[in-house]
Amino acid sequence: MSGGLFEGYAIESPPFGEEDGRRLAAELFGLDGTSAELGSHQDRNFLITTGEGRRAVLKIANPHFGRGSLEMQNAAMRHVAAAGLSYETPVPLEAVDGRDIVEVDNGGAHYDVRMTSWVDGEPLTAARHIGADARAAVGAMAAEAALALRDFDHPAADRVLQWDLKHARAVVDGLIDHAPEAAQRELVEQAMQVHDDAMAGLAPELRTQVIHGDVTDYNVVCRPNGDGRLMPAGLIDFGDMTRSYLAAEAAVAAAALLWHDPDDALGVLVGVVRAFHARLPLEEQELAAMFPLVLARCASSAVSTQQQALLEPDNAYTSGLVDGEWTTLRAAAAVRPALAEAACRAACGLPAHPRAAAAARSLAACGATPVVDPAGRRLQPVDLSPEARVYAFGEWRTPEGLAAAVSVADGDLAVGRYGEARMHRAGDPAERPPAAVHLGADVFAPAGEPVRSPLDGRLASRRSGRVTLDVEIGDAGACRLVLDGVDPAADLADDVRAGSVVGTVAARDERPSHVHVQLCLEPIDDMPGWTTAAERDAWLGLCPNPSPLVGTDATAAPPERERLLALRRHAVADAQELYYSEPPRIVRGWRNHLYDEDARPYLDMVNNVAVLGHSHPAVAAAAERALRTINTNSRFNYDSIARFAERLVELAPEPLDRVFFVNTGSEANDLALRLARTYTVREEVIAVAGAYHGWTTATYAVSTAPYDNPSAAENPPPGLRLVPAADIYRGPIGPDEPDAGPRYAQFVRDAAPGAAAFICEPVLGNWGGIFAPDGYLEHAFRHVREAGGVCIADEVQVGYGRLGAWFWAFEQQGAVPDIITIAKSTGNGHPVGAVITTTPIAEAFARNASFFSSVGGSPLSCEIGIAVLDVMRDERLQENALRVGTHLRDRLRELAGRHTLIGAVHGHGLYLGAELVRDRPGTTPATEEAYAICERMRELGVIVQPTGERMNVLKIKPPLCLPMEDADRFADTLDQVLTTGW
Ligand code: PMP
Repeated sequence: MSGGLFEGYAIESPPFGEEDGRRLAAELFGLDGTSAELGSHQDRNFLITTGEGRRAVLKIANPHFGRGSLEMQNAAMRHVAAAGLSYETPVPLEAVDGRDIVEVDNGGAHYDVRMTSWVDGEPLTAARHIGADARAAVGAMAAEAALALRDFDHPAADRVLQWDLKHARAVVDGLIDHAPEAAQRELVEQAMQVHDDAMAGLAPELRTQVIHGDVTDYNVVCRPNGDGRLMPAGLIDFGDMTRSYLAAEAAVAAAALLWHDPDDALGVLVGVVRAFHARLPLEEQELAAMFPLVLARCASSAVSTQQQALLEPDNAYTSGLVDGEWTTLRAAAAVRPALAEAACRAACGLPAHPRAAAAARSLAACGATPVVDPAGRRLQPVDLSPEARVYAFGEWRTPEGLAAAVSVADGDLAVGRYGEARMHRAGDPAERPPAAVHLGADVFAPAGEPVRSPLDGRLASRRSGRVTLDVEIGDAGACRLVLDGVDPAADLADDVRAGSVVGTVAARDERPSHVHVQLCLEPIDDMPGWTTAAERDAWLGLCPNPSPLVGTDATAAPPERERLLALRRHAVADAQELYYSEPPRIVRGWRNHLYDEDARPYLDMVNNVAVLGHSHPAVAAAAERALRTINTNSRFNYDSIARFAERLVELAPEPLDRVFFVNTGSEANDLALRLARTYTVREEVIAVAGAYHGWTTATYAVSTAPYDNPSAAENPPPGLRLVPAADIYRGPIGPDEPDAGPRYAQFVRDAAPGAAAFICEPVLGNWGGIFAPDGYLEHAFRHVREAGGVCIADEVQVGYGRLGAWFWAFEQQGAVPDIITIAKSTGNGHPVGAVITTTPIAEAFARNASFFSSVGGSPLSCEIGIAVLDVMRDERLQENALRVGTHLRDRLRELAGRHTLIGAVHGHGLYLGAELVRDRPGTTPATEEAYAICERMRELGVIVQPTGERMNVLKIKPPLCLPMEDADRFADTLDQVLTTGW
C-alpha cells in the first residue's frame, strides 16, 4: 500500500493568508475584491468578492499532490459543464495571461494557483431535516455526475487516494488502531467483513470509470425552495476524483446522508439508490455491492476522522465529527446486509431476491405436508387487516377482540394471512410507522396439537417456542423455515423428515395459540416476523409465501393505495381536492385516530365533523336503528324530528324557537339567507371579507375566502356588502386600541342601511379561530337591527361545544343572533344541518312558501343528531374541549416563545390556530412553510392542515374526545418539526 494513502491530514496547508488571496486574485486573475478564507483540509481556498458582487474561489493547491490532479479537476469541471447538467458546478476561470494554473513562489516553495466560479448556496450540511425529495435529488445528482464523467479520462485518474473505495480495506487496516475502543474496532471489522465477503466475488464484475467520488453533504450546494427547505442545486469540489467503481458514486452519497438520519438507514440507502438508478440504471451486481460499499465508506470514514482527531486533539469540531461517524457506522452495521440488498433490488424494479420466482414455483410444486394436520377441519383464512369487518370499536386492542377475530365455525381452523398489515400491531400514533406487515402465515390451533415439518430438513436451531429448520425447496435451493409458537419435541433429531412431528402448538399469554410459519431465502438470525410498509417489498421478497406449507391459500391482498389513487384521479373531479402530496389510503377511524391500509395510526387534528370521535358506537347504533325501522321524509309524522327539534330549541337562546332541517352547512346558510330576504323583503347581504359560508350559489355569493373563491377579490359578487374581519391580528384596528370592538362594528353600521342580513362566523373560524374584540358582535348586531336587517350566526364550524367555555360562539361575544346555522358536528359525519330562528322569521317564510328537503330531518338524521347530543353530554366533551384545549393552547404558546415562525396562537377550547409568519413581529404569512410542515407532520403520524385567508394557519380542530396525551403528542411533534426542520 502506498504511504501516500494516509498523508492527507498530516500535511500542512500552504502558508497563505486572506491578504495573499486578495492580492493573487487581483494580480493573476484580474479580480479585485475582498478575500475570505474557505475551509479546506490541505489546500487554501479564498472566496473573492468584487465590488460589483461577482464571486469566485481562489484555490492554492498543496504541492504535495502534484499538478496532474489539478489539471484533471479543471478538465473534468469543463467536461461536466459542457454536458449540460441539471444543476450548477464550478468552472475554471482563466488567469490574465490565459493560463488555467499559475505557479507562485512563497518562501522558496512553488504553489499552483487556480480560480473557479462560485456556486451560490449553502452546503447540505446546513439542512436540518433531509426529506425524501432532497434525498432523491442527491441520488440523481450523483448519477448525473457519473453519467457526465462516463466518457471522461485523464492520466491522473489512477492516482491512489484515501477516499477511493477501491482502497477501503487498506485504509481500514492502516488506521484501525486509531479507534480507541475495542467495541469500535470490532464494529469496523464486522462492517469490513461484510464488505470483503461481498467484494471478493463482485469486485471484478463492477463497472469502473472516473467518478466525482465526493457527492456528500459538504459538497452538495443547496438553496431554499420557497417553503424554507434547502434543496440541492449545485455540486462542488472535484478534488477526490479517481477511476473507481461506478457504484461507489451512489454509495458515497448514501453514506453521507446516513449521517443525518441514522435511524432510517435503509430508507436513506433506498432513497438514494432508487433516484440514482432512475437516471443511470445500476446493474444487478452493483446493487449487490451497494450496501457493502456503504459499509466500507462508513468504516473507512470513521477511522480516517479518528486519525484526524488525534492529529488535532484540541479541535472540538473534529471530535464532534468523530461521534457522528461512529453513530453512522453503528446505524449502517445494524442493517441486515441481505435486507439491504433486497431493498436496493426492489427499489430498482428487480425481484427483491434473485431466487424469489424460483422459490414460488418450487413451493407450489413441492407437495408439502401441512404443518398442522387439518384432520378433516376446514382451513379458513381470516381478515385481521385494518379493513377487517370483525373490528368496529377498538376490539383489536384487547385479547378478547383478537380471539373473536380468529374465531371460525366450530371444528374449523383459522389461518392468518401472509403479507397482511394487521390492525392489532398498529399501536398509538408515533413518529415511525409500526411493523405491522406479517411475514409468515399462521395456523390457529389448540395448544398441544402436534406440529409437523412440512418438508425434509435439518434442524438449524431450537429454543422455547420456536423451531428453525434448513430446508431445500426444489431448484430454488436452500431456505430457512421458522415455526414459531411451537414447543419443540424433546426428542427432536438433527435430521427431520417431511411429516414428522417437531413439537406441539404452544399456549400464548395474550393471543390465541397459533403456529407462525415463515420461510426465508437467506439464513438470517433472529428473523423478525413483522415488518413496516416501507420494508414490505424487500422482506416479502426474502420471505416467500408459505401458503403451500399451511395447506390453503393464505395470501393477503396487496396494498391498494396506488391503484385507488389512480382511479380517483381518473374519475373524481380535480376540484374535489386531496390532502397531501402522498395521501395515505385511510381505511379506518377510531376515536381521534385514523388508520391507513398499512395499519399506521395517525393523530387526527383536522376532523371537526367527527366531533365525538370516529366510528362512535352510539352513532352507529342510532343509524342502524333508523335504517332497520323507519327512515322516511319529514312530511311524515315520526317522533325523532320532534325530539331533535326540541333539543335544539332548548340549546338556543330565546327568542330562537323554530327549527328547519337540512343536510349541510351550505344548505343551512343558503336557507338562512332566504329566510332573511323573505322576512326583510330586501336582497343585499353584508358579509365579512375572506369568509366562507358554503358552495351553493347563494352562499358562494357571500363567500370571499381567497382559497375557495379566488376571483372574488377582482369580481365581487353583485349585491354583496363586504366588511373587514374583526381581526385584531392583521386587521386595521389592533388589539390594544381602545374600543376596538365597537370600532370594527362601525364597518357593519356603514354597510347596514337597506341590507337584508349580516352573516358572520361569531369567532373567525376560517381565519384559524381569531376572536373578535369585546363588544364587536353586540354592536354590529344592534346596527344591523336598527337598519331593519337580520343577523345570521354561522356556527357550522365554531359552535356546538367546540370552544369549550361556550356552546355557541356568539355567547363569547354576549350577543344573540336572529338565525343560527349548524352542520358538521351535528351528525358526527352523517349529513345533519339545521337552521334555528325566531317565530316571526319562520312565519314570514311560511306565508310565502313551504319548505321541503327530501332527506333533511329524516329519521336517520334526527336519530343521529340526538345521539350526538346525548354523547356530548354523557362523555362531557365540551368540558374535555376546554380542559385539553386550554392545555394545548398553553403548550402552543410556549412553543411560540421558542419558535419565531409561530406568529400567534388563536382560538379557544379545541378550535385553535397556530399562525405561521416569516418575520415576527411582522405578519408576512409563511404559507409555503405551513404546507411543508403539514407534510412533515403527516410523515411523523399527525394529520393537520393549513387554513386562513393566506393558508398559513395550522388549524387545530380535532374530535372533542382528544385525550391529554394526544394534545401533548401534537405539541411535541410540532416542536420537533420546528426544531429539526421540515
Ligand atoms: N360555513 C362555514 C363557516 C364552514 O366552515 C363551512 C364548511 N367549511 C360551511 C359553512 C359549509 O358547510 P358544508 O361543507 O357542510 O356545506
